[in-house]
Amino acid sequence: MAKFEYAPAPESRAIVDLKPSYGLFINGEFTDSEGGSAFKSISPSTEEVLAEVTAASEADVDRAVVAARRAFNGAWGRMSGADRGKYLFRIARILQERAREFAVLESLDNGKPIRESRDVDVPLAAAHFFYHAGWADKLDFASLGSNPRPHGVVGQVIPWNFPLLMLSWKIAPALATGNTVVLKPAETTPLTALLFAEVLQQADLPPGVVNIVTGAGATGQAIVDHPGVDKLAFTGSTGVGKMIARSIAGTRKKATLELGGKAANIIFDDAPIDQAVEGIVNGIFFNQGHVCCAGSRLLVQESIADEVDRRLKRRLSTLRVGDPLDKNTDVGAINSRAQLERITELTAAGEAEGATRWEAECELPSKGFWFRPTVFTGVSQTHRIAQEEIFGPVLSVLTFRTPHEAVAKANNTPYGLSAGVWTEKGSRILWMADQLKAGVVWANTFNKFDPTSPFGGYKESGYGREGGRHGLAAYVTTGDTK
Ligand code: NDP
Repeated sequence: MAKFEYAPAPESRAIVDLKPSYGLFINGEFTDSEGGSAFKSISPSTEEVLAEVTAASEADVDRAVVAARRAFNGAWGRMSGADRGKYLFRIARILQERAREFAVLESLDNGKPIRESRDVDVPLAAAHFFYHAGWADKLDFASLGSNPRPHGVVGQVIPWNFPLLMLSWKIAPALATGNTVVLKPAETTPLTALLFAEVLQQADLPPGVVNIVTGAGATGQAIVDHPGVDKLAFTGSTGVGKMIARSIAGTRKKATLELGGKAANIIFDDAPIDQAVEGIVNGIFFNQGHVCCAGSRLLVQESIADEVDRRLKRRLSTLRVGDPLDKNTDVGAINSRAQLERITELTAAGEAEGATRWEAECELPSKGFWFRPTVFTGVSQTHRIAQEEIFGPVLSVLTFRTPHEAVAKANNTPYGLSAGVWTEKGSRILWMADQLKAGVVWANTFNKFDPTSPFGGYKESGYGREGGRHGLAAYVTTGDTK
């Protein structure tokens, strides 16, 4: 099917006012590092340098934890829930007011299409603050247990796939429950977190309640190891999650870990095929497949496999890959050279192990990091592309004959974050949801997020939930105060 030619529709980047360099946000102010170094944040779609950012040292992390402790013992700790809620409402409203600025900056720094940063990331980030603002003065009625109280200082480390959204998943519940925060954004996507620090200043949040320290893995490790941190919240790879679990074993630190996934998107022969094809596309090509709950394994019932294959490839041939700031773009840039290399290596392994590779035809820009939407058929369960998280726009297709076989194959993974089921039969949806070992099961849809709905994994996808009432539980301790 031919692609229509569209005139370019670029979103202007003039709304973003980037500084040449950024310090660390500690105790309500941007400050220079003590003994840290600097690194550059680049645009993955053009490789241009966007800004120079500070790599926080252990001494900087210590200053941030001290500031967070002071705020916890001071004004923030004494504040009523209703007053904390007012700050959260204020932050949410400022995020809405500055939504376009955030969306453009997110697309520049991360490479995701402006359509997604504008319509998904930024509105959902604001929604998380609105939702948690409502809880701040109602914690006694949230069935969390008796006398819910904050842990104290929370250390938070987030990945690069949804920089602002993951920040809001972390900061909103922490503040609603009365904790203070030291957060590290990912090395390749620090800029919206630094813009968010400006929002905190605009909202007049008391100094030290939220501290943002940029840097790489070593800065994250310094937060994890700091004895002044009471609770950790991490989203990222299973490998680093395991390291964190090991480092805090034997300490009194609490942790929630949101790790990888290898979700099955399961299409039964009674599913509406065109809708299912849209769900498959949304499941794995949304955000270039850089999604922990991505539907990266398609399980399709054998009797409709050829039909789904034909319609899916036709649909993928219409996707527009390119400039993230163009409003026509469906698939943007891969976030970093390192991630592109990882996707390239895993897809080469897919071919070497005998699966059949298909790529959508499209021209890729000459600069930046790009990967064509790719589908592997003839995949067997032992292939690396069926077992490992690729975290890119790559779909592995397997088939099944019976619901029991679908369940067995879907659960045959070390992960257990999410799954999708496409069928006309409500009873089958309920039966499948019961059998699938996944924290979230979507029925006749995929990748739907809502702050009221808890999200989290089984097995090597981590533990703890984020969002909803269950997400609040991770940020409080309950029972007697003695
Ligand atoms: P990481 O798990 O390394 O990164 C997540 C966050 O942890 C980043 O802020 C990172 O900092 C930080 N970090 C790294 N090392 C440590 C440490 N020792 N202690 C504390 N924090 C640390 O993921 P990658 O970016 O390396 O991605 C690798 C793979 O992980 C991807 O290919 C993908 O498969 C998977 N992944 C899964 C995600 C998910 O949501 N499930 C999200 C991101 C990645 P820095 O960015 O500076 O390295």
